[in-house]
Amino acid sequence: MASGSNSRDKLEFNGELIEAGSRVDTVIKVGIDPLGRDLEIPCYIFHGKYDGPTLGITSAIHGDELNGVSILHFLIHGNDHIPDNEDDFIDVNKLKGTLILIPIANPESVLLMQRRATDGRDLNRQFPGNSSGNHSQRLAHALFSSIVPKSDFLIDIHTAPGTRVNLPHIRANFDNKDCKFLARAFGTNIVLHSLGSEGTMRREATNSGCPSILLETGSSNSFQIKNVEAGLNGVLNVLKTLKMIEGEIQEPNYRVLVRKSRWIRAPSGGLLHCVINVGELVEKGQLIAHITDPFGNKTNDVFAPCKGLIVSIATIPLIRTGDPLVHLVLIKKTFDRIKEILEENEDCECEEELVNDEEGIPLDDMVFEMSEKTEPK
Ligand SMILES: [Zn+2]
Repeated sequence: MASGSNSRDKLEFNGELIEAGSRVDTVIKVGIDPLGRDLEIPCYIFHGKYDGPTLGITSAIHGDELNGVSILHFLIHGNDHIPDNEDDFIDVNKLKGTLILIPIANPESVLLMQRRATDGRDLNRQFPGNSSGNHSQRLAHALFSSIVPKSDFLIDIHTAPGTRVNLPHIRANFDNKDCKFLARAFGTNIVLHSLGSEGTMRREATNSGCPSILLETGSSNSFQIKNVEAGLNGVLNVLKTLKMIEGEIQEPNYRVLVRKSRWIRAPSGGLLHCVINVGELVEKGQLIAHITDPFGNKTNDVFAPCKGLIVSIATIPLIRTGDPLVHLVLIKKTFDRIKEILEENEDCECEEELVNDEEGIPLDDMVFEMSEKTEPK
């Protein structure tokens, strides 16, 4: 347990002392912006009345990925967005432990509605950061040093870029038992094994002794209510599993733990007409998409190479040969059971399967984003 987190002493946070049994909004100071204003990261803290673990939650490290902002807003103030009333999810006078919540981790990039930091770097490759380094490294350092040493566990919330949509799913290092525990506690249907790239919040926090998981939910630049609800439900599941709050854990009706999976790539360029959606099951050989020429004539069909479940799809119709179209998780023994569950919308005991797709590759090897080599150092 991190020092200071298991005693109901006041919490020291960046020089401020926070009483047990109180909720405060505060800031993490980063520096000065071009107009001479303080560059600050808003931060909300529930320092519970009773002993318990400290959970840190970050969102919008990528400034265009906003579903996590909404998830944390609901968590902080309930459905009505008004503090201190009966619909709040957290009663700080009953809370066991501490919540450190960062809804907008990268404020300048949020204002610009962009993934990257203002110096062109990816903030989620800069952790743990450097207090005397470049702008992004200092931002990373301010975030990391404020949250991670104080936290026993961490959840980092992301979305797909605007070119794709992701089914809500957790990414975690299965080889770390605490990360796997946290991933299962969150309760998404799909959990993907991945170490995370070097310099990501999740990987570096885990390496420094704070087991961390990442939630992917929906796509960028919007509040998507179903994705937000799934994320909020998962966070509440974690709080209940850690016994920080009371309440019934919402178990998923099935869970697939995935070691390796695959991206189906475009066999040719053209215009993409997907005929499936995220969260759907597909049989081997089932039609996934048509590709057409500019006049709408079909030039290619794309079929599922195995039976499985769709975790992510491309949403931009303009595609080139080799572009990733669909992220597919192989499902074997639970396929028929999941089909029944999805068709009948059943409430039932959680079915679980561990998948290691022999023709798939680990998530960390699926390079489908702009090369980091072009990033300024
Ligand atoms: Zn992201």
